[in-house]
Amino acid sequence: MRHVAVIGSGPAGYYTAEACGKQFGADVRIDILDRLPVPYGLIRTGVAPDHQSIKSVSRRYEATALTDSVRFCGNVTLGQDVAVAELLDLYDAVVLATGAPADRPLGIPGHDLPGVVGSAAFVGWYNGHPDHADLSPALSGPGAVVIGAGNVALDVARILAKSTDEFAGSDIVGHALEALDGHGIDRVTILARRGPNEIAMTPKELGEIAHLSRAVPRVDPADLPPIEADAALDPGQRKAVALLRSFSVPSAEQSITIDFDFFAAPVAIERAGDALSVVIERTRLDDHGRAIGTGETYAIPASLVVSCIGYRTPPIEGVPYDEALGRFANNDGRIAPGLYAVGWARRGPTGTIGTNRPDGFLIAEHIAADIGQGSGKAGRDGLDSLLASRGVDLVTFQGWQAIERAEVANARLGAPREKFTRVDAMLAARTDLPG
Ligand code: NAP
Repeated sequence: MRHVAVIGSGPAGYYTAEACGKQFGADVRIDILDRLPVPYGLIRTGVAPDHQSIKSVSRRYEATALTDSVRFCGNVTLGQDVAVAELLDLYDAVVLATGAPADRPLGIPGHDLPGVVGSAAFVGWYNGHPDHADLSPALSGPGAVVIGAGNVALDVARILAKSTDEFAGSDIVGHALEALDGHGIDRVTILARRGPNEIAMTPKELGEIAHLSRAVPRVDPADLPPIEADAALDPGQRKAVALLRSFSVPSAEQSITIDFDFFAAPVAIERAGDALSVVIERTRLDDHGRAIGTGETYAIPASLVVSCIGYRTPPIEGVPYDEALGRFANNDGRIAPGLYAVGWARRGPTGTIGTNRPDGFLIAEHIAADIGQGSGKAGRDGLDSLLASRGVDLVTFQGWQAIERAEVANARLGAPREKFTRVDAMLAARTDLPG
């Protein structure tokens, strides 16, 4: 028998479990540990609440979770309840699928002022992550500035711009819906430090902001490159840029504008009273396509600044770490004998949810090549004894299903669920209902 521990129950974790199940059949036991009592990581608290079709992939993970060889072990914190070294003693393979839940630092003066938040916190807030449920973002307006030209920036701009009615059918948490309802923001500025051809936004997501009931996207035609340059773009990027071109054509006024500000690098954030001011330097592209400051600056006022410039994997004591790349140091997923990284913890915060599937299969192949038939380790029995001796209240998949039933029962009209945003409430729901 082979024993595999996967740390993190997001897409990378579940795809790894699925792949190990396919690789080893009945000759493997896979424990998926998560510090929260609820599974699915980014699907639950990262993917936008109005993107339910993306979230529905969790049904696939559920099928994996319900196979005999796989067990969900929620409410178990690595480094607190159990150490990596202990897991390596108990399991033939330990796979770190811990994602990249920390914001890349903006690193400009004023980045830590009240009203300035990272996308991990802001997205976690509207998605009900227990770490961020108390965020209380400054929504008084009139302006909000969103830094970055990726899909997370678009998610944040769209969530700020949508009307309450447009959240029908989403699983946005009640506290966020209430705070967003009637907020004072009438202008969301997306700051892109490079140009339209360099955006990291995809057409489907860009298309969505063109169809909002109370908001209109705007692009300054002067920022658009000559149309002849579009031919050199790959088809997806060309489509995205065509959408930006369409946003430069004047359209009917709406109560909220989503302004794309290209060639605009934030250099400082200042605060006077309740108001923030984002100081921006105009940029141009150098021969390598990098943004270079031109020395020309201007400022945009805002109550809220959300930095959406990418993420980092938090280090774990004793695990080799690549500071520059913000993820575990690894060779194609191998970190050290018996220790692996997968998903964003392996390759950084890029790609779609589905990108993690081949990642999981790659790691399963490495594990198969490295551990043979397994070496008679204690596996889950050993983990259970250790956690019991430490009084850890482990939540199984059945426990999660009880929590989920309670969330579905608590749903607002039209919403698929009302998520618990506190760990104690999750644990109470687990025990209050039969598992
Ligand atoms: P991303 O795609 O890497 O975009 C990050 C953006 O931040 C880039 O435009 C980057 O500009 C900019 N940036 C980085 N450092 C900056 C700085 N110091 N100052 C100003 N701007 C800076 O990251 P993301 O938006 O966090 O998305 C992460 C991954 O999740 C992506 O693969 C994304 O597609 C995916 N995702 C997908 C969806 C969806 O499919 N619906 C939704 C959300 C996220 P430069 O290009 O100039 O570096």
